[in-house]
Amino acid sequence: MTAHRSKVRAFAWLGLFVCLAAAGLPAREARAENVPTPEEYVDHVGGDAHVLAPGELKLDGRQQVCGQRPTVIDSQLDDYGAAYPGFLILNPRLLSQVTTAVKQWIFAHECGHQFRGPDEEAADCFAVQRGRRMGWLDEQGLEEICTFITPSKGGSMHFSGAHRCEYMRKCYADPSVR
Ligand SMILES: [Zn+2]
Repeated sequence: MTAHRSKVRAFAWLGLFVCLAAAGLPAREARAENVPTPEEYVDHVGGDAHVLAPGELKLDGRQQVCGQRPTVIDSQLDDYGAAYPGFLILNPRLLSQVTTAVKQWIFAHECGHQFRGPDEEAADCFAVQRGRRMGWLDEQGLEEICTFITPSKGGSMHFSGAHRCEYMRKCYADPSVR
């Protein structure tokens, strides 16, 4: 399996929607032929990584569903969440440090990439509108998300977080689903 594994290694990052929730870095466009399956991803990263079938994931006791997409649990992921076209990845170690609303928003954001593509703002908007529609996101939860993505120190990161937050507030208040 060595050759197979190295192929996954070589291509893995090309297909990943980079979802640095705190940093707001631009996402990279995925190429279908470079996207690993969830099993290939797990095989590649090793450790405690494992695949949960659609509907198996719970965050703070609440079932999370993103269509028919499975979720890979990977505590070595260098971010809270990520997404390849076809599956989501969550880091339980980092997620344990945030509130229930933020956890669900991160899952919904990664789910947003499945249906809206690599654009971060589109994924943010999808997530808050989904939360409003499904009833798990209220004004207080929105504040928790804004606190999460807006680092306390100033600079360009701060601006990026504040900008995303402002856009999400608009999306949340917008009755038309985007
Ligand atoms: Zn993202």
